[in-house]
Parts: sequence; structure tokens; C-alpha cells
Amino acid sequence: MEFDSLVVQGIPAVENEKGSVVPPIHLATTYVQESLSSFQEFGYGRGENPTRFNLEALVSQLEGVKHGFAFSSGMAATTTVFNLFKQGDKVLLNCDLYGGTYRYADKLFTQQGIDFELVDDVNDLTDADLTPNVKAIFIETPSNPLLRVIDIQKLSDLAHRYDCLVIIDNTFMTPYLQRLFELGADIVVYSATKYLSGHSDIIAGLVTVDDDDLAAEIKLLQSTLGNILSPTDSYHLIQGIKTLTVRMDKQEENTKKIIEFLEKHPRIANVYYPGSSSAVEAQIQKKQASGIGAVFSIELVPEASPEKFVDALDIINLAVSLGGVESLICHPASMTHDYYSSELRAKIGISEGLLRLAIGIENADDLIKDLEQALDKAV
Ligand SMILES: *Cc1c(COP(=O)(O)O)cnc(C)c1O
Repeated sequence: MEFDSLVVQGIPAVENEKGSVVPPIHLATTYVQESLSSFQEFGYGRGENPTRFNLEALVSQLEGVKHGFAFSSGMAATTTVFNLFKQGDKVLLNCDLYGGTYRYADKLFTQQGIDFELVDDVNDLTDADLTPNVKAIFIETPSNPLLRVIDIQKLSDLAHRYDCLVIIDNTFMTPYLQRLFELGADIVVYSATKYLSGHSDIIAGLVTVDDDDLAAEIKLLQSTLGNILSPTDSYHLIQGIKTLTVRMDKQEENTKKIIEFLEKHPRIANVYYPGSSSAVEAQIQKKQASGIGAVFSIELVPEASPEKFVDALDIINLAVSLGGVESLICHPASMTHDYYSSELRAKIGISEGLLRLAIGIENADDLIKDLEQALDKAV
């Protein structure tokens, strides 16, 4: 089946004797066992739940790998994977990534004696950077909030020469637009709070992995840390995923129209989207993804005030997050990336005036009109 069929049809039919077209929600926390010598597949809800298993099977199918795991948030997914590492290990990360991921590294890797480094340009990593203690490279591509693009195939080829894992946060692209395991990734994480659920009403995270041994370790961590997704949220995420492709198609179509409008507007100084920073990155994005997604960032000309601009927007609301059907705008320096020091933000290029947009499924002309009138009022 093609991807747009799988999102709808990919849930295995389990215990569906009534023929319901949507899967049931199994709320039970414990399961009856036949005898002391015969335990069934389901024991206790933290370890096994049929609704969560449905979601996990669906997600592994969408990714085209053997294993999927559902967590109570994107951060729960990421931090569970981070629990694979121990004192003395080193993890490389791209420099502009989700603020919470950086906060975990800065606070908890440090506390646990795990070394980490924010890499300026992951595309420039060489054999010399892959010292024996480097156990993983964790990246977001496109990056957040500057939408820089990292060559996944090239990175994987390098990392795998040194037994180093490639872990990718694919929240912005989803498996619909970017097929990471085909490019060499070992572990993929998602904040399913964003595009996968799509309606800004559940917090959820996912991990996908093909390797059986890695999967067994993650399964054990999931059950041990107990940061599972609830049955009800698992159900809602299955429902959200069904419309992923139609939502993302429309969001990307809107995004392209809006970027075209903004790039020509005299009050816009810069537009950052996947591939905008160089011809090389544009080529990589084209090669490894089937689109640019629906998140981009802008800077206004110095005469214009970001605050006045944001205040003047009617349709596009000021809020963190992305991937929902509604368009949002946020100010990374004070919102999503406020944990970064101002020196670090300046070094990376997250300016005080940078604004990040996440485009929804509204009518593109309405969104453009909203941006146009707000730009008029920004000076
Ligand atoms: C939101 C987000 C996260 C964190 O996910 P939560 O579901 O909020 O815990 C991680 N990575 C990226 C890229 C995100 O956008």
C-alpha cells in the first residue's frame, strides 16, 4: 500500500468482532492470566496495552521498520532514547534544535557525566570528530528554528564507520516527507503532538527503530521509565494520523504561496526555509525529502517592529508549537529557545527579531492578507 493508504488502513484488525470502523479503546490496567504456567501476551497496562500496540504497529508500518513505541510526549520519546547512554559517552547534536532537547543535554547529560557538543554545521563533521567515546549523533533536519538541512546519508555513512548511532528528530517532516531509515538513520523520534496528531489537542511522542536489539532496549526503558502514551491518547493519535497526508499537502501548498509572497515583500529582510541558506542545502533537501514542510522563519527589516507585527495579526495566533491545522507564529528567542543563553543564540544566528511560523490548513489568501495588513502596521 502507498503511504496515503497506510495512514488510514494500516491499523491491524484486533478484537474487532463488532466490525467497528475505528479501533476500540482498551482501558484495562491489568489482564487475567490463565494459570501460573500460562501467561498471555497482555499482563499489565504499562508494559502492554492493545490500543497503544495498535498505534505502535501503525507507526512502524508508516516508517517501514519493525518497531514503534509510543510515549507520553515528544520529550519522553527523546529522553528515553537518551537513556541508552552512560557516563563517559559523548553525544553530538546540531546546534539549533528543539529547546527542550538542548535543555536536557545541558542539565542532565552534564549531571550524568555524559559529554555533549553542539556542532555548528553537522555537514562539516569529519572522521576526526568521531572519537571513540562518540556514541551517537542526534540531529533535527531541517533544524529548528533556522531550517538548516543536514545530509543524512553522508552523516550515516560517516557515523557507521565508527559504530556511532544516528538519531533523528523527524517531527518537522514526518515519515510522509522524509524516509529516514532508507537514508541510514538508526533511531527516529517524533513529537507526535505536532503533525502526526495534527489538531493541537494531545501531547505524544514516538520512537521508531528497525534493529531488534535496540528495540529491546527501548522497550525495556519504556516499561521501566513508565512514560507511556495513555490508551485514550493512543486512540486519538491513530485518528489524527489518518488525515496526515491531506493536512500536510495543504499546509505545504499554503506555505509555498506564503513564502513567495514574503520573499517579495519590502518589509521582510530574510525568509528561512529548508534549502534557503544555500544551493547545496537546497539540493540535499530535494534529494532526501519530498517537500519543505510547513515551518519557516522570518526577519523583518530593521525599521519594522516584530512586536507590532505580531500584535497586528488577526488570524495567525501567537503561540508555541506547530503542526496543527491552525497557523501559529512564535518568537524563538523568548519562547521556544529561551533556555539557550543570549550569547549562544547570537552565535547560532537565532536573532532577537526572528519569528517562526507554522502554517495551517486555512485559505492561503486569507493568511497572506493577514500577514500583509500586519506588515503595514509594523512600522
Ligand atoms: C515539540 C517538539 C519536541 C518536544 O515534543 P513534546 O511533545 O512537546 O514533548 C521535540 N522536538 C521537536 C522538533 C518539537 O517540535
